[in-house]
Amino acid sequence: MARVYEKAYFKDDIVPITEACLSVASSAVLYGLSVYTVFPILITRNGLATFRLRDHYQRLVNSARIVGIDTFEPLWTYEAFQEAVRALAKANAISENVFVRATVHVDELVPGTRSRGLATTVSMFVYEAVPIVRQNGARLKTSVWRRIPDYAIPSRAKVNGSYVNSVLAKQDALDCGYDDCIFLDEGGHVCELSAGNIFIVRNGTLITPDTTRDLLEGINRLMVLEFAHDLNIPAVERGIDLTELYVAEEVFACGTSTFIASVIEIDARIVGAGSVGPITKQIREKHERVLRGDEPRYLKHLTFLDDHERGTDFALKYRGALAEVVGT
Ligand code: PMP
Repeated sequence: MARVYEKAYFKDDIVPITEACLSVASSAVLYGLSVYTVFPILITRNGLATFRLRDHYQRLVNSARIVGIDTFEPLWTYEAFQEAVRALAKANAISENVFVRATVHVDELVPGTRSRGLATTVSMFVYEAVPIVRQNGARLKTSVWRRIPDYAIPSRAKVNGSYVNSVLAKQDALDCGYDDCIFLDEGGHVCELSAGNIFIVRNGTLITPDTTRDLLEGINRLMVLEFAHDLNIPAVERGIDLTELYVAEEVFACGTSTFIASVIEIDARIVGAGSVGPITKQIREKHERVLRGDEPRYLKHLTFLDDHERGTDFALKYRGALAEVVGT
C-alpha cells in the first residue's frame, strides 16, 4: 500500500486527508460517478515539477464531457487547476517523487441516475510514487473479463465506476499467480492492462493498439511514440492479435503508475529472451531522463511548482473569485 500524505485539496480548501469526505448519498458513492486522473510531482534538476499537467487536465475535461458531467469545465480553467496543484504541493512539503490523484466527484445527493446540472467537487491528494506493476519481469495473463466496449462505458473516459472492470481482471490475474492482466476486446484483439497501455516489438518495429481499440488514451503512451520517433525506432498504431504477444521480441507496459514495465511472460509463454529487451531499455532510459528534466527538448512538458509568489492563499482566493463570477 502506498503512503498517503496528510493534506488534501477538497472543496476549494486544503484540509487534513481525513476530512476530505463525500456523502454516502452522493452520485460519486452511489454510482461511481466521478472522473479522475493521476499525474506525478517530480524532483527534477530544476526543482519540483508536474509532467504534462495540461494533458491531464484536458483528459479530465474530456472524460467529464463524455459522461455528461457539465459543472466541471465552466468552473475550472487550466490555470485554476494548476494553482490547486501548487497549493497541494506546498501544503505537503514534498521532497520525493509522488503521485497526485485528482478527481471530479458528482456530489449531488440522491439525484437519480443522471449526470447533467449536478454539483461537483474536486479533490486532490498526494501519495507515494510506488509502481503498480513489477518493473523488470512482469508476468501477465489474458483476462477472462473482456474490456468494456466504447458503446457501453468508454475506456477513453477515465470514470471511477468503470474501474470495476479493471479490478475484476487484475484480481483474476493475481489469483492465478500473475502480476497483471491483458484485456482483450470483443473481437479478441489486445486493448491494454488493468491500468497501463501496452507496446510490443516485432521485427524491430514498436506496435501499440490504436486508440479506437477500447483503451485509455494514455499520456505516457503518447510519450513513448514520440520517443520512438526521436530514437529512430519505427512505430505503428494498429490492432494487435493475442497470438502476436506470444511471438513478440519484446513487450512492455507504460503509464504514470506503471512507468515502463518490462513483460517477460504472458499466459505461461516466455516473451522474447525472457529479460528486459533492448528497445524497452532505450525507451525506459529516455522516459527516466525526461522525468528528471535531463532532456531539454521535453522540458516544455514540465510545469515547475517552486513558485514562491504563489501557493495556498493565492490558489484558494483564485478559485473563490472564479466561483463568485460564475455565481455558484
Ligand atoms: N490505461 C488505463 C486503464 C489506465 O488506468 C492508465 C493509468 N492512468 C493508463 C492506461 C496509462 O495512462 P497514463 O499514461 O496517462 O498514466
